[in-house]
Amino acid sequence: VHYRVDELPFENSFAGLPASFYTRLQSTPVPAPYLVGASASAAALIGLDVTALSEQHAIDAFSGNRVLPGSEPLSAVYSGHQFGVWAGQLGDGRAILLGDVPAMDGSHPDRLELQIKGAGLTPYSRMGDGRAVLRSSIREFLCSEAMAALGIPTSRALCVTGSDMLVMRETPETSAIATRMAPTFIRFGSFEHWFYNDRKDELKILADYVIDRFYPALRATAQPYAALLTEVTRRTAELMAQWQAVGFMHGVMNTDNMSILGQTIDYGPFGFMEAFDAGHICNHSDHQGRYAYHMQPRIGQWNCFALGQALLPLIGEVDDVHVVLAIYKSAYENKFDQLMHAKLGLHSNLPEDGKLIEAMHELMQKTHVDFTLFFRRLAGLQVDNPAADEGIRDLFIDRPAFDAWAAQYRLRLRQENSDDAVRKAEMHTVNPKFVLRNYLAQIAIEKAQNKDFSEVARLLAVLERPFDEQPENESYAELPPDWANELEVSCSS
Ligand code: AMP
Ligand code: MG
Ligand code: MG
Repeated sequence: VHYRVDELPFENSFAGLPASFYTRLQSTPVPAPYLVGASASAAALIGLDVTALSEQHAIDAFSGNRVLPGSEPLSAVYSGHQFGVWAGQLGDGRAILLGDVPAMDGSHPDRLELQIKGAGLTPYSRMGDGRAVLRSSIREFLCSEAMAALGIPTSRALCVTGSDMLVMRETPETSAIATRMAPTFIRFGSFEHWFYNDRKDELKILADYVIDRFYPALRATAQPYAALLTEVTRRTAELMAQWQAVGFMHGVMNTDNMSILGQTIDYGPFGFMEAFDAGHICNHSDHQGRYAYHMQPRIGQWNCFALGQALLPLIGEVDDVHVVLAIYKSAYENKFDQLMHAKLGLHSNLPEDGKLIEAMHELMQKTHVDFTLFFRRLAGLQVDNPAADEGIRDLFIDRPAFDAWAAQYRLRLRQENSDDAVRKAEMHTVNPKFVLRNYLAQIAIEKAQNKDFSEVARLLAVLERPFDEQPENESYAELPPDWANELEVSCSS
């Protein structure tokens, strides 16, 4: 099926919830919007040919200048804990839900919501202007699609449109609107909102909506609400393992940025680990390092506790909540262990492997090796031929440190008669060659700020095939240049 944008068969499932869940509203038009970037694979998910997104009537619709037929736009209310502190009501301060459309890839659930971000004030804008800047919109667009290509659960990004209208941040910046897609954007904070307002009826309505629509199998369990918490806890733990295994740092893991589906959502000051430092803080606004790389797994668990607290009136027994939350640790550890074995090209899982993996992390920490290049080049190691280690050894100034660990790794590989060629091919399917390094995004952003959108498209194409060699794009896999050290990413967006 290829729809025209105006033919998208909208339904408005979320609008079927009681009026207290949202405010119906109109987006605020921007002057002369233009297309900045579009994702063909995201478009295909909802039955659009990507070329349809270049048509002016589509650009107008996804900039909020025009309402699509059948769409009932609204902004949702939610609350949340920000940096560990109860923040009260937040809500979609600049996001407008357009409605939901069929998903074409047989994925479950079978519909995707479309949301435009940056299309004007909402009742939840608080001190904000309801707008988003081109810089952060391009970053969200590229990273959503990069994460999807890496196989990590995430909201998707359909397109970004821009307008010469300036918005004020630290300096005046070009404004933009990102269109994103997910089965739902309901967050942990959506549940906390009703819990902290002592509104058990709404809490139950929301939980029933989420279960019936996204977790229908749980309906048949003895305690559907406890089962919901179990499932969300498991998914969140596994998502954290996937983030850690690829070196992704979200930057703002507030409970209002945690998807009830266990997807990565709300891309802001995120980053991919480059020179390894377990304590790295990607968000310049995070002074305490609450969301540093090594904190993410336990913050994921903290957030599940916040969700468990909010669901307590439905679950009934505190003990039942604790039983559920206890699964987080094993779910995380099992997934992380499985991912690390795959990253190292190991088939068997031996009790002593924990030591090898720990020693690897010590090596990475001590040498600050580039995270992505380390795992990618490790695939080229040959068990019986250390002379072939040039590519990986070149990453280390402290070569003896690498050699010492590599000796342990070789022993382990011999133990399972690992085949060099087979292992290399397998490792290349799990250790990406290309990730969205900050400086790559920055180059695309600066060109786009000068109306050259070609680098957004080119970088997207590279990131859509993160595991492929792509010899023509070798420069995108290199170590960041020195100027990248000066890049700071903050909550300003
Ligand atoms: P975030 O940390 O990006 O998840 O944002 C926290 C809250 O602030 C959310 O409710 C956002 O919708 C809101 N917000 C962030 N930036 C703006 C803005 N420019 N205008 C209105 N609301 C915003
Ligand atoms: Mg948010
Ligand atoms: Mg945000």
